[in-house]
Amino acid sequence: MSDFDPIESLADMQHEFGEHGGVNMSIETSTTFTVMQADTLPEIFGGQRGPEDGGCFLYGRHFNPTVYVLGKQIAALEGSESAYCTASGMGAISSSLMQLCDHGDHIVASHTIYGGTFALLKDFLPAKAGIETTFVDTSNLETLGEAFTPRTKVLYVESVANPTLRVADIPRLADLAHAHGVQLVVDNTFSPLILSPIQLGADVVVHSLTKFMNGASDYIGGAICGSEDFIMGLMDLHLGSLMLLGPTMDPRVAFDISMRLPHLGLRMAEHGRRALAFAERLDAAGLDVVYPGLPGHPDHALFDSLRRKEFGYGGILSLDLVTQRRAEEFMEVLQNKDRFGFMAVSLGYFETLMSCSGSTTSSEMTEQEQREAGIQPGLIRMSIGYTGTLEQRWSQLQDALEILNLIPVAAG
Ligand SMILES: *Cc1c(COP(=O)(O)O)cnc(C)c1O
Repeated sequence: MSDFDPIESLADMQHEFGEHGGVNMSIETSTTFTVMQADTLPEIFGGQRGPEDGGCFLYGRHFNPTVYVLGKQIAALEGSESAYCTASGMGAISSSLMQLCDHGDHIVASHTIYGGTFALLKDFLPAKAGIETTFVDTSNLETLGEAFTPRTKVLYVESVANPTLRVADIPRLADLAHAHGVQLVVDNTFSPLILSPIQLGADVVVHSLTKFMNGASDYIGGAICGSEDFIMGLMDLHLGSLMLLGPTMDPRVAFDISMRLPHLGLRMAEHGRRALAFAERLDAAGLDVVYPGLPGHPDHALFDSLRRKEFGYGGILSLDLVTQRRAEEFMEVLQNKDRFGFMAVSLGYFETLMSCSGSTTSSEMTEQEQREAGIQPGLIRMSIGYTGTLEQRWSQLQDALEILNLIPVAAG
């Protein structure tokens, strides 16, 4: 990797002061913006004059100053030339794919991806836009090339896949994609700061800001990172997917998310520290735990070669309790008796969130598709929070394990 550092990159940005010299930027809530010379309007409309080329912001669905600043901050964190924000992660993913693919084009995607993205690729895009997807095991680089067709435009993977936690070999996937004239799109929702896919060769990075990036489970948001040309193209008046499909982020949301980016690094490191400690202890207790920080994980060495060490291996671990019933009982004890965390979908929250992937966030997949993707019926995905102390949380976890007879009851 280059000597790119996301924390330094964000700190190096020109600071955006508020209107009255405030240390925080102002929230620009206007949906429309004045021009002082009427004859500049055609150029602004034509996209020749962006907000930084003497143009104005035009209209809130086009560019908004507050959302624009958040976009620049996310570009700084991802090491991309440019970025812009969307109303949701799905807004970012669908807009990016619609921008890169025309009717009749083809996508090659990993078979282990977020359920919503899976349904978008498998059901929605073929039906609504004539864009077909072939799902493959993207960790098998030998056979991956066979899936490409002359119409393939995109290779789509998650940097750390949901919920199996397989890690994408981004540099090799980028080489393979580029050899076929295909763009590599990476969903980096699970591993902000830990992995920098653009720096590793990806063309476009998409995010659900709803998760770790915002970290408070109070906003839905998304982001698209890529080249300046690609991001400006999303705003094209005739063929821009953000401009025309309109998944616009609210400036108030952009402001609040921006206020949480300065501590993203501290949060990621602590999510990772706790998840690693729990994974190691669960593993030592003989439980079937999946975590890329464990030496037994199939992508442990790969992850070590790609990740930024100070942010750990991520805040998500999976625990396989074999049957859905057992997984549900365990989560009920953890939430209702031990107060370890919440039975809720989503991730990246300061509290621990637990869900049974097969019946929730991957329920868009059939049972067979789930088995192929390595999603077992009793698989619990845990997004490890950082409230309370590590030892307090571990004793809560131990208590639930004892109640379900998953570990012997401790003496005393
Ligand atoms: C949650 C999630 C999404 C979708 O994001 P929303 O903000 O809910 O639209 C996409 N990809 C991954 C990996 C996710 O976890």
